[in-house]
Amino acid sequence: MEQRIKKFLAERKEKGLLRTLTPISRFSGSKIYIDSKEYVNFSSNDYLGIADDPELISAVLRILPDRVGISGSRLMTGTSGVHIKLENRIAEFKNKEAALVFNSGYQANVGIISSLCRKGDCIFTDRLNHASITDGILLSGVKYFRFKHNDTGHLEELLKKERSKYKSALIVTETVFSMDGDIAPIEKIVHLKDIYKCMFMVDEAHATGVFGQNGAGIVSAQNLSGKVDIIMGTFSKALGGFGAYAAMSRELRDYMINVCRSFIYSTALPPVIVMANLKALDLVVKETKRRQVLLENSTFLREKLLENGFKTKGETQIVPVIMGENKKALLLSDRLKESGFWVIAVRPPTVPAGEARLRLSLTFNHTKDMLENFIKELCGHKKTLGY
Ligand code: PMP
Repeated sequence: MEQRIKKFLAERKEKGLLRTLTPISRFSGSKIYIDSKEYVNFSSNDYLGIADDPELISAVLRILPDRVGISGSRLMTGTSGVHIKLENRIAEFKNKEAALVFNSGYQANVGIISSLCRKGDCIFTDRLNHASITDGILLSGVKYFRFKHNDTGHLEELLKKERSKYKSALIVTETVFSMDGDIAPIEKIVHLKDIYKCMFMVDEAHATGVFGQNGAGIVSAQNLSGKVDIIMGTFSKALGGFGAYAAMSRELRDYMINVCRSFIYSTALPPVIVMANLKALDLVVKETKRRQVLLENSTFLREKLLENGFKTKGETQIVPVIMGENKKALLLSDRLKESGFWVIAVRPPTVPAGEARLRLSLTFNHTKDMLENFIKELCGHKKTLGY
């Protein structure tokens, strides 16, 4: 086994695929610091700049707990009043009957999908869905079909061919895609789900806080809450906190409490985190301007990238710069870091082979000047990289 591990790491390094961890010394708005060097951070999911918002911090300080951990799973002694309050608040926010809070988005997706599907069922999943969705599908052990990214024609083809062979079926997609920054055709999927009698689950991790009138997400923006069975999302991105939720019917919530292993067998979120998530929800609803500025900045950056001959995709606050080769993406990321821009190179298997990229995620805290300076810097490296 040791030899295999050594070989694996050496090969990863050789192919430009080795993952490493970089300790950050300090975070401040759109900046991060490593030792004393300052970087503009283009890799944070704190889209609305709420994680270190003074109003949120002072609220958390005021509620500083009389204990830290809750010392039990939700089914033992881990359900506090604030857990229930947060679940009721999410149900209302997402316009569903009920909600259940999970310790992370990863745990929510893995647990929910593997609880829903049994032998004899099948799953239809977008090819670019997040790893946590894929892991939930693999854990369920049922037959699954991957449809081409955002391609409802292909989804329909698969449904036509396969659906009748299985008892129950689930369709699952992200609403805002984490690596491409584009939006799923939810309305068309809802139409197909009705025709082919499937359950429909969406992951709104990157949409919550950013889209919809109160930041309630894409499903809410399109008035489709009644048509989507499970609306999952996280507190860890635009809400600046930690943990996740799934909004659904009361009956589905009861079912999850009884069978969902990632919910049952894990210590509950500490109440202080739950209270911070509640406060963040208030801020998200109130601070409409942050959403507007964020999306204006995203459009501005995308336009500048295209104007300067870079390849990009999508229409949200996640802006990829497609490089193709792993080593090119890594080299550019290193060069940008030298100039004070923290941008991560995302490589396979996180994205398809041949589509290595820089993944820029914008936040409310980025200024136009920062974006313009970034474009200038990027253009300076074009020739070196043969872009
Ligand atoms: N779903 C999507 C689409 C994600 O991008 C992520 C993480 N970035 C998750 C789920 C997992 O969420 P968490 O970080 O809370 O585990």
